Amino acid sequence: MRKYFKKLPRELREVISQASQVSQETRMPAYLVGGCLRDLILGVKNLDLDIAIEGNGIIFAQNLAQKLKSRLKTHERFGTAILILSDGLKVDIATTRQEKYPYSAALPVVNSGSLKEDLKRRDFTINAMAVSIAVDKEQKIIDPFGGQDDLSSGRIRILHNLSFKDDPTRILRAIRFSQRFDFKIEPKTLLLLKEAISDGLLDKVNPHRMHDELILMLKEQNPFRPIKELDDLGALSFISTKLKIGKSTQALFKSISKEIAWFVKNFPARRQLDTWLVYFAALLAPLTWLEIKLIIYRLGLRKGEQKRVTSYYRGRKKLISSLSKKQVAPEQIFLLLEPLSYETIILLSATTPNKNFKKYLADFFEIYNGMRLCISGHDLGGLGVLPGPEYQKIFAKVLTAKLNGQVRNRQTELALIRKLVQAT
Ligand code: ATP
Repeated sequence: MRKYFKKLPRELREVISQASQVSQETRMPAYLVGGCLRDLILGVKNLDLDIAIEGNGIIFAQNLAQKLKSRLKTHERFGTAILILSDGLKVDIATTRQEKYPYSAALPVVNSGSLKEDLKRRDFTINAMAVSIAVDKEQKIIDPFGGQDDLSSGRIRILHNLSFKDDPTRILRAIRFSQRFDFKIEPKTLLLLKEAISDGLLDKVNPHRMHDELILMLKEQNPFRPIKELDDLGALSFISTKLKIGKSTQALFKSISKEIAWFVKNFPARRQLDTWLVYFAALLAPLTWLEIKLIIYRLGLRKGEQKRVTSYYRGRKKLISSLSKKQVAPEQIFLLLEPLSYETIILLSATTPNKNFKKYLADFFEIYNGMRLCISGHDLGGLGVLPGPEYQKIFAKVLTAKLNGQVRNRQTELALIRKLVQAT
């Protein structure tokens, strides 16, 4: 197994080595588990470490954080902790546990348990393996359900027949992993998955959990594939029965992906995009305004997420027609686009092939976005202007001049307001 650890970035190898020491000192066995072990075996990059502790995960995490001098967030109630390293690397630490589902789609009742029990509560065989991180232990993969075999044969397999009944979000996870790795869902698992869908189990899950799983799906490298698969299996109805996934959706997702790539390449310093949100908003295109509002409410989108989705649908026709004209003043471009989120603008661009529109968007991102005046009401007061509507008129004129490149800094802005005040 050492050969797998060698594939980790240097900082994570250091974490493993320190964790191994903590494990020795505290006498708490520690294991690398779940998706990060799966990806290590596959040779796929994964910068999140998942460590399971037989003992007390919180105490273990506190000891490790001290050694690594890293930030630590703990959730005492769940016996879990997250170490946040530099460069955005993350280490999840959890006490091994067992889970029991009192009824279908319920939240599980959690108790501490052995490593074996911890592996047994997991979703698929390929995610239910562990390896000890102790240096002195034999580095053998603990694989009670045949995960290695399924990994090498490219199979997604649940651990027991009630798995989808217990937690129907695993339906989305099965589809997501099978599409990501190009794996087949093993026949019996597929049968039970289809049964769970036709029994309507997805509608029983807390919508917030569905929201989270849907986000993960839309964050995949190529989100069209799992979404199409979800639709083919008749499972997209948990969002709405009216969604249509066809060639035009595929073309739109492709166009969105190009726009995102263009944005990331040209504006690397801007805030990171919530790319999933662009795809999510695009999916809702066949629906009426009322249906969109209902879905947003039902899935429990957060305020900022809601706003970004609805702002696309609310004003897009007028905005596209205004910005498709040959001559549009910079001030107009600014006023139309500045209130919108990057996600909304990216979706507008993906749905609008018009060349003028694209040019104005590029101008907006390159020149106008975030433009603010250096002067304030204080400067106007200093010139004897009394607060009131006159302030707004003067500011608007200075902003227009700035967008047109006629003033560039505080000095030239001050010179302009002096001129404007004298002229009134
Ligand atoms: P990704 O590569 O997308 O991050 P992951 O496998 O690391 O996938 P996480 O959602 O980070 O997935 O979860 C970590 C591990 O927790 C999984 O590998 C799996 O063992 C377990 N797990 C997560 N969600 C579930 C679930 N709904 N049911 C059972 N086990 C789960």
